[in-house]
Amino acid sequence: MIRLDKNKYPIERRYINKRPNVRPGTRLKTGSPAFFVVHDTGNPGADAEAHYKYFNSQTDRDASAQVFIDDERILEIIPTGTGSDPAERAWHVRYNVTTDNDRFGYDSNDTALGVELCYGSSYKDGKLIRKIDFNEAYKRFVWYLAYCCDKWDKNPSTHIPSHKQLDPGRKSDCEQALASAGKTFKDLITDVAAELASPIRPPDFVKLPAVVAQHLIDTYISPAWYESQRAGDEVGKMHFHNLANNLRMAAGIPLLPGKAALPIQKLPKSNVQELIFRWLSPGWFKAKADGNIALANQFNANANHLRRAAGIPIE
Ligand SMILES: [Zn+2]
Repeated sequence: MIRLDKNKYPIERRYINKRPNVRPGTRLKTGSPAFFVVHDTGNPGADAEAHYKYFNSQTDRDASAQVFIDDERILEIIPTGTGSDPAERAWHVRYNVTTDNDRFGYDSNDTALGVELCYGSSYKDGKLIRKIDFNEAYKRFVWYLAYCCDKWDKNPSTHIPSHKQLDPGRKSDCEQALASAGKTFKDLITDVAAELASPIRPPDFVKLPAVVAQHLIDTYISPAWYESQRAGDEVGKMHFHNLANNLRMAAGIPLLPGKAALPIQKLPKSNVQELIFRWLSPGWFKAKADGNIALANQFNANANHLRRAAGIPIE
């Protein structure tokens, strides 16, 4: 199968100066991007260079995005993690919208990249100043999103919301720019999947059984959280909170009672290693020493459920 061509277009990196609420310089909560919000600039004829200049001198508005794509270039003006610089926050979806929290468990600004499509034409005194070739810009936009999905193991059909989907009362991007060329949001997702050359690529991990996730949370993670609480260890509390939530997301269990479950997420390998090292492996050794083979097998079975949920070979 032909895989994504990772060198099809160059990714240019020229970063704007750090300033609060434009480029705060803080890392994404998830380290690497958790999803990709597609925008258009709402500013016909303004290209990536124009937006670099605008945001580099911007001081009076809480707005920005990491990436601007036009018919000539893909320009990252805030680090995204595609290169050697770790991904940083930008301000591209209002914090008071809840659709991103419901769908992904986080605010977009804290965990997602904002990817902006430059489009349209600008005029001055009736004269054409800049016409952005839609097809060339769109091809780069599609490829960049596919590149990100490939790099961070995300699914185009679940991990690329539009700004309009997240904030339908106020926003109509990037659907409005797509519509200017007769395309729909669904076309965009289909094209990104096709660019990945894996529209039917099966996931390389298996959903964690909900009973296994709940058992591990109740037996080990909750007690560890309470232990951190007693010790006044905030870092430990946050760690075990995130560990439990990662198991819930791998098992399709809602993060909060009464909320919908999020799309199934692959379990991080480091979580599997920790759970096995800290609890399952000692349990297995003790059961073995006690001659309790059934219990030892249970520890081994749970370790293998975790391995499958992270896409690593079972033992
Ligand atoms: Zn937007």
